[in-house]
Order: sequence, then structure tokens, then C-alpha cells
Amino acid sequence: FASGEQQDIVVIGGGPGGYVAAIKAAQLGFKVTCVEGRGSLGGTCLNVGCIPSKALLNSSHMFHEAKHSMESHGVMMKDLSFDINKMMAQKNKAVKGLTAGVEGLLKKNKITYAKGWGSFKSPTEVEVAGLDGNNQTISAKNVIIAAGSEVINLPGVTIDEERIVSSTGALALKEIPKKMIVIGGGYIGLEMGSVWSRLGSEVTVVEFLNTIVPTMDGELRKAFQRTLGKQGLKFKLNTKVKEAKTEGNMVKLRVEPSKGGDEETLEADIVLLSAGRKPYVDKLGLDKIGVELDDRGRIKVDDHFQTNIKGVHAIGDVISGPMLAHKAEEDGIACVEQLAGKGGHVNYNNVPLIIYTHPEVASVGLTEEQCKEQGIKYKSGKFPFLANSRAKTVDDTDGMVKFVADATTDKVLGAHIMGPNAGELIPECVLAMEYGASTEDIARSTHGHPTLSEAIKEAAMATYDKPIHM
Ligand code: FAD
Repeated sequence: FASGEQQDIVVIGGGPGGYVAAIKAAQLGFKVTCVEGRGSLGGTCLNVGCIPSKALLNSSHMFHEAKHSMESHGVMMKDLSFDINKMMAQKNKAVKGLTAGVEGLLKKNKITYAKGWGSFKSPTEVEVAGLDGNNQTISAKNVIIAAGSEVINLPGVTIDEERIVSSTGALALKEIPKKMIVIGGGYIGLEMGSVWSRLGSEVTVVEFLNTIVPTMDGELRKAFQRTLGKQGLKFKLNTKVKEAKTEGNMVKLRVEPSKGGDEETLEADIVLLSAGRKPYVDKLGLDKIGVELDDRGRIKVDDHFQTNIKGVHAIGDVISGPMLAHKAEEDGIACVEQLAGKGGHVNYNNVPLIIYTHPEVASVGLTEEQCKEQGIKYKSGKFPFLANSRAKTVDDTDGMVKFVADATTDKVLGAHIMGPNAGELIPECVLAMEYGASTEDIARSTHGHPTLSEAIKEAAMATYDKPIHM
């Protein structure tokens, strides 16, 4: 625990925003304490978010591939089965290894790890209610709030993490539900729905709006929903959830059309509520020091991540911007660099979003729809994976790459990929946009053959000229 001497920086929260900020701060010579109350570092992302969900997505994908695709490659599968306990153990191993790894990194960087819940006593004093029952006050010149986010509740739907679960419960089910209803067609619901559908559940996604993932490029979105449909996910769009009630081993879900109309009752053994997340500020005692929130409960910050209270900063899911781990990390680094008098910044127009279904969907920058809304003259070019040699060789051809570029200058404004390993392909587009590249710059860069990345090159060619293989 901190020795009582004043810290340069106290970080509240040990998630991707907080632990990265703490490490960067220590690297820059600050004396740092990181306060974390969940008893394990890595935040939502490592403990109950990105990491366990990707572990289960991978395991369930392996099973699904073995069941549906292997034989066409001549790999014969007999008496295929899976062991859910082993799958969960594999997931837990990944989580444990990575969270312990973060603890090791804090140690290596001589950061004090205060295990407990932190709240403000004053702008320069954080009281920590230690998990071991001991309390301590740590004083610091600067405090960075990196307290993350929590599930948004829906009126009439009470999470019990048994039958009515959040993503946390959905990552730890003990058996395969026969029927699962996912409330919310965002990326978390679609990822978790995919996991359980691949393992045999009948999954229905109930969404209030007329589309899933509304911010996604329209063309990709339609193709994506079609693909998920083929995999067995059912969609009930334009539907409002009124109440979820557990009766015995089943949950009854009362729904009605979003715009009003006849009510109906759906049934499932598990209902997953994933209708969004909100900043988690409850334990911080913000009202004690008068930190201002916006109308959506997010902590208000200026361009330097400072709240209305001098010396109190906030980063990651508790402030505005995409609620993503890599965005939280960028916030953390930029915030600390600025405290050190350096010019850290985050380009919020250039933060990729990745959905780790199969195929994956990854996108960065503007969509065609956003260009139209903003009156930007644009051109677009696309290339399907069906015409990409690597995708053909691995028999994984669903999806495409699409570029949106400025009509006059050819500068890349957005890139949208649905396809195998889209998440590993998007960084090329992010980098191109960071450097202000044109689609011609991308197309004239040599891409290895045969790789999936050639679909990026050809989509770029299709934007300013013509692709070769179409
Ligand atoms: P968090 O990771 O939430 O960390 C905040 C930490 O602060 C928590 O550990 C909390 O215990 C602690 N804390 C809060 N208050 C206090 C206090 N008063 N005192 C002490 N400690 C406190 N993002 C991606 O980029 N990619 C993905 O694939 C992805 N998948 C996801 C899947 C799921 C199921 C979920 C739920 C989220 C996913 N996310 C993903 C989102 C990602 O997890 C968050 O954007 C990210 O964790 C935010 O980082 P953060 O540091 O701001 O907050």
C-alpha cells in the first residue's frame, strides 16, 4: 500500500485506461498509485469484456468450423462434441494470465497498486476502502478517474445473472441454453449471441431500432445481418421490451412493436440484456468535490482530459467517445503525456470498431451515410473477398472491403471491412487515414500475395480507378 508520501498521480481504476495511464506515467518519471476495487487488474476488458468474450468466440468458432466446414476440406470429423467446462477453463486461463501480467507490469514499473475502492475526500485526496478492511487516504497532485462503465438497465428487466443475465453472466453460463433472447443488437449482444448459437442455442436478437449496429455502413450492415441469419441467429427488429419475468426455468419476455401495437410474449431459458453501457461513477464521491457530468452521466472534460476541478482528470469509458478499450488506452497515454508537458492527443475520428463475429466486421472513419448527412462529396470503391485468392484458398469468402474517399482529393475518409480477420486488416486503413493518405497511395503500395490484405489494395484501386481481379 502507498507509504503515505504524496503521489504525483493517483489513477482510480485499473482497466485499459487506468493501468495504461499508470504505466505511461511511471515511464515518464511520475510517482504513481493505481487504485482498483475489483481485486484484479485489467478492468471490464480483461476480466469480463474483450478478453473472455474473444476466448469463447474462438472456442465456439473452432467447434462450429469442425461441425460445418472441415469435411469440405477433407478433414473428417467423427463423433464431434464439446465440453463447456473445458471451454470456460480455457477462457479463465486467458483472463488469469493477462490480469496477472498487468499486475506484473505495475510492479516492474514501481507503481503502487492499492487494492480497494477509491473516493474523493478532496480534489487532492483519495480515500481507499481497502479490500482487506483497512482504509487509507492517499494525497496526490493529480488524480485520473478511469472508473469505466457498467450495464444500462432496462425498466422491467432485472438482471439476476442466472436467467436474466448481463454480458458478465453470459460469459459464464454453466450449460447451453436451448433458447436465448438477446436484448440489443449492438456488438456485445451479437458477439455473445454468436457464441451460444454456435454451441447449439436458438438465439433471437430483439432490437428496438429497425437495424442492428446502426452506426455501421448500411451496405455492410445488411450483408452482416444476412450472414448472421444464415448462421442461425434470428432478428426481431422494431421491437420494444416491456418486461422480463422468470417463471421456473424459463423467462417470459413481454414485447410490443417499437411504434406501439399488439403485445406478444416470447420465451427463453436465458435472456441477455445488452442494451448499452453507462459510465460507472457511483463509488467515486464526485458530488463531494463538485465534478460536473453531462446529460448522459459522463464526466465532462476539456481538451486536456481535465474536469471542471483543477488537477482532477478523467479518461476512457467514463468520458465521451466510443466505449472501447483501445480508445481508453489512447486517452490514458495522451492525458499523462499532457501532464508531463508533452503534446499527447487522440484522433477520435480515427478509432476503429471491430466486431469479432465470423466473419469479423471492422470499420473506421466515415460511412457513406455520414458523408451524405454531412454534405461531403465522396466516392466509394469496394472489392469482395469472393475475388480474393487467399480467401478462396481458405474457403472463407463472405464479405468485402469498402473505401469512402473525398471526391476531389481522393483522401480516405473511411474504410469498412466485413471478412475473415477484418480486425487485423483495419489497422492499415487506420494508419493510412492518420497520415492523410489517398486511396491511390494505398493501391500503389505493394501488398503481399496471396493475402487477404490484397482485398484492401483492390478496393482502393476500385475507388480511384478499377480493380484488377473484378
Ligand atoms: P474499465 O475497463 O471498465 O475499468 C475500470 C475499472 O475501474 C474497473 O476494473 C472497476 O472495478 C474500477 N473502478 C471503478 N470505480 C472504482 C473506484 N471507485 N475505485 C477503484 N476502482 C474502481 N472493447 C474493445 O475495444 N474491444 C472489445 O472486443 C470489447 N469487447 C467487450 C466485450 C464485453 C462483453 C464488454 C462488456 C465490453 C467490451 N469492450 C470491448 C469494451 C471495453 O471493455 C471497455 O471499453 C474498456 O474496458 C474501458 O476501459 P476503462 O479503463 O475506461 O474502464
